[in-house]
Amino acid sequence: MTTSERQKPVFRFAPSPNGQLHLGHALSALLNRDMAEAEHGRLLLRIEDIDQTRCTPEFEAGILRDLDWLGIGWESPARRQSEHFPEYQAALHALIERGLVYPAFLTRGEVKMRVTAYEAAGRSWPRDPDGTPHYPASDRERPEDEWREMLAAGKKHAWRLDMRKALDLIGELLFWTETGDGRSGEIAAEPDVWGDVILSRSDAPSSYHLSVVVDDALQGVTHVVRGLDLFPATSVHRLLQVLLGLPQPLYHHHRLILDDAGRKLSKSQGDSGIGELRARGTSGADIRRLVGL
Ligand code: GLU
Repeated sequence: MTTSERQKPVFRFAPSPNGQLHLGHALSALLNRDMAEAEHGRLLLRIEDIDQTRCTPEFEAGILRDLDWLGIGWESPARRQSEHFPEYQAALHALIERGLVYPAFLTRGEVKMRVTAYEAAGRSWPRDPDGTPHYPASDRERPEDEWREMLAAGKKHAWRLDMRKALDLIGELLFWTETGDGRSGEIAAEPDVWGDVILSRSDAPSSYHLSVVVDDALQGVTHVVRGLDLFPATSVHRLLQVLLGLPQPLYHHHRLILDDAGRKLSKSQGDSGIGELRARGTSGADIRRLVGL
């Protein structure tokens, strides 16, 4: 890569191959391409396939075909997250070494039981912006020699960020620069609303939050353009960037495409699927119009 290439703005489209692309993805991909062109920047494609139970090579092939059909070009090769688990593990281990992450042993069912019992008394348990209950504090308070023994005995666990400890360590408000369709300007991050987020699971060595910040940094991404549904997650990303000493990109969270009932599109919605629209004779220009570009 030449020096002038290295100085160019870097955009990325980062779909997960766990379903077919729909109009919402088309908007995201087209906006990334349009903005990269306007800024004389580069466009990368990242396949976010850490969830190997839901992501398939067939869906990935479908994504490449749809992007090609939409006339969107990207720098080859695309980065496939499942080929980079050691990089995410290295970041996780750096946080474990600093005591900012702890092993969480409760299953989803056990957490649910605790929450239900607590709420039966008319109190409400804190939930994250996705509606998932915060993880109970018991594992966080477990002494290190005890959890090391449990790990040595092979007990199944996830790794969670100790949010309180991380925020105490940083000791200042974090901000990001936003240019998107919702709130814009300098946005104060609120990572605490997420509780102790998962950074690695027993069945997937990295989480979305961890791999996205590691990759954005490793790939030199300067502009993150993605849907407004990920606006709240940016708070966690800013915190992880600071904890891991990574640079912060600019953020642009764009409007979402909703279905007739006002719901966010899902990957199983056939009639807004790009493949389905193509099969019905829709053109690339029609797609731009359909997503309001
Ligand atoms: N892989 C995520 C998705 O498909 C997008 C992640 C991102 O753009 O940061 O929703």
